[in-house]
Amino acid sequence: MPLRYLIVLIVCWPAAAQELQAALEAAIRPELASLEALYKHLHANPELSYQEERTAARLAEELRRAGYEVTTGVGGHGVVGVLRNGSGPTVMVRTDMDALPVTEKTGLPYASTVKVRDEAGQEVGVMHACGHDMHMTSWVGTARMLAKLRDRWSGTLVMVAQPAEERGGGALAMLRDGLFTRFPRPDYALALHAAPHLEAGRIGYRYGAVLASVDTIDITIRGVGGHGAWPHMTKDPVVIAAQVVLALQTIVSRELNPLESAVVTVGSIHGGTKHNVIPDEVHLQLTVRSYTDEARKKILEAIERITRNLARAAGVPEDREPAIRYAEHEFTPATHNTASLVDRLAPVWREFFGADKVLEVEPVMGGEDFSRYGMTEEKVPILIFWLGTIDAERMRAAQANGVRLPALHSSEYWPAIHPTIETGVKAMSLAVLELAKKR
Ligand code: ZN
Ligand code: ZN
Repeated sequence: MPLRYLIVLIVCWPAAAQELQAALEAAIRPELASLEALYKHLHANPELSYQEERTAARLAEELRRAGYEVTTGVGGHGVVGVLRNGSGPTVMVRTDMDALPVTEKTGLPYASTVKVRDEAGQEVGVMHACGHDMHMTSWVGTARMLAKLRDRWSGTLVMVAQPAEERGGGALAMLRDGLFTRFPRPDYALALHAAPHLEAGRIGYRYGAVLASVDTIDITIRGVGGHGAWPHMTKDPVVIAAQVVLALQTIVSRELNPLESAVVTVGSIHGGTKHNVIPDEVHLQLTVRSYTDEARKKILEAIERITRNLARAAGVPEDREPAIRYAEHEFTPATHNTASLVDRLAPVWREFFGADKVLEVEPVMGGEDFSRYGMTEEKVPILIFWLGTIDAERMRAAQANGVRLPALHSSEYWPAIHPTIETGVKAMSLAVLELAKKR
């Protein structure tokens, strides 16, 4: 490179970065108060998967106000907002909208007090325990920023608010309802997720495998019920279920290659009504996580083999074999970030936030149906990154005292509002500005 170009580059680079910093800062500052209010509103008014009606209406309204062409009711309560801004790539930014059946115990002044009845008719609290309220707030902020900064990029922006991420069905429902055919098809798809163990103000990224695949399985162990004092006249499904739960632990520890990552968790076990009655059935609910098709297949086969054979070993009659049901519509494939996107965006974030704020992180066994957007035949490049949410002081105190911070889905998880919102908005806006850079 001729010396004079090098000098121009060295002189101009920091100036350009500073100018971008100033522009983003000026654009976001007037939005922060209303984004905070939006966050608190969403946090206090959570809706369960497939029921995100009022949440979707609010997000649609936000996009309309920011100047987007908005379509609602895509794949259920899904919302799509399009901003056409000249020629160039189409970039999709996705948020999820659903909350969880968890009773909030954070004690925050804006904590959710919402209660609903679940499918079994039980009253349950509802909470944004996975931080989807923070995803939505960052997403609205990003939509506003990119509308304001439209002279800095060229292309089409597709803002997607997806229902039912927690049930693994929302992304597929939106794709089946024509997300990539009725609307501009993305050249890139982006998302972020709240991170419960990363300091607010930081972001985490990863090449390749980032989130695991998720299978949801219901097992009914059937026995022959009777009196608790005449066990020899029964086939006790409680005992068989206990054996099954323990034997399932050997799948990962004894059957899989130790270098392979996987999880088999029995999250729920229910059976019986009374001390002295041996019930007819016991129900188990499992979540299974893995990273490869091979491991997944092996685990599912082992669950089937162990369950059926333990029932058989206990002498359960053939017509009362266990029922094993895989919730096909709740299957989530593993998420793999496209390397070229990480290559392109990680340096942009480092330059903007500082290298100490942008970290390469480990994969986790959580799952995300964001993976679906990269698995259609178009093979759209995708990237999901982690948004730090824990106040620096709280993080330091927890580390100093050896206290474990609440995980996602915990009734005690809460993100710091600042600087999480501004970091999410800036990181996502920067990503779009980079991908749809004016040439
Ligand atoms: Zn979740
Ligand atoms: Zn989530």
